[in-house]
Amino acid sequence: MSGKEKQYYKIRKRHLWIAIGTMLAIIVITYYKQDLYKMWQHKQGREDVTYEGIKSELKNNRECYLCGNSDRSLMGYYRKFDTIGLISLNDWYVVDFGLQEYDEQGNPLKSDSAHTSTQMTNTGEVSIMTSSSPNRGMASIDVSLPENYKPDIKMLQKRLCQACLDKITDSLETSKWKYEKKQAIPLCLVDFKTLEIYAVQDWHIGCSIRDYWVDMEYDEERVEVNAYYLPTRE
Ligand SMILES: [Zn+2]
Repeated sequence: MSGKEKQYYKIRKRHLWIAIGTMLAIIVITYYKQDLYKMWQHKQGREDVTYEGIKSELKNNRECYLCGNSDRSLMGYYRKFDTIGLISLNDWYVVDFGLQEYDEQGNPLKSDSAHTSTQMTNTGEVSIMTSSSPNRGMASIDVSLPENYKPDIKMLQKRLCQACLDKITDSLETSKWKYEKKQAIPLCLVDFKTLEIYAVQDWHIGCSIRDYWVDMEYDEERVEVNAYYLPTRE
C-alpha cells in the first residue's frame, strides 16, 4: 500500500460538548476576569479605612509641622496668607493655589493684570502642576501620586502635635471594598488662615472653605483640585 492511512479518532459526542463547554468557560472567565472579580468583591461588602487612636510622637509641640514653627515646614510662611492650599502629607510639601499674589513678606499684592501662571514641581514623591489666574480668583492643582500610594502615618506621628495629627487622620478616613487594596490618598487641603484641614479622598468631591469653593476629581493616581474665590456680594 502506498501513502499513509489517515487515522481518525472517535470521540463520543458527549465528550466533545464537554470539551467545547470547558473551552468556552475558560474564554469567558479570562475575558471577564476583572468584572467577575469586581462582582465577587462587591458581594463581600464595604469597610471603613480609619486611623483612630494614633498618638503623636512629637516631643515639642512648637515643632509641629502644621501649627508650629518647624524649619522644615513651609506652613510658618503660608500661615500669613488669607488663602487656601494643598499638602502632600508624605513629604509635607505645602502648595499654595495662587489665588492671591503675595510679596516676600507674605503681604497681599494688588494684581490688575490678567495672567495665568503655571508651575510644575516634582517632589520625588508626587508631581504637582499648579495653574492660577489670581485676578479671576481661579486656580487648579493637578497631583500625580506614586503607584500604590499610602499615607505614611509614622512620619505624621513624628511631625505633628496631637491636635493636628487628629485633624489630619480624620481627613484621611475613607471606605473601600473589603478585599480592595485601596489606601487613603496622602493629600489634604488646608485653610492657611484657620489651619482647618479638608479631606482629599474620593468620596469628597467638593466643599466651601470660607470664601472659596473647591471641587475635586479623581482618576486612579491622579487628583485634580479646582479652587475658586467666590466672595459674597456686598
Ligand atoms: Zn500642631
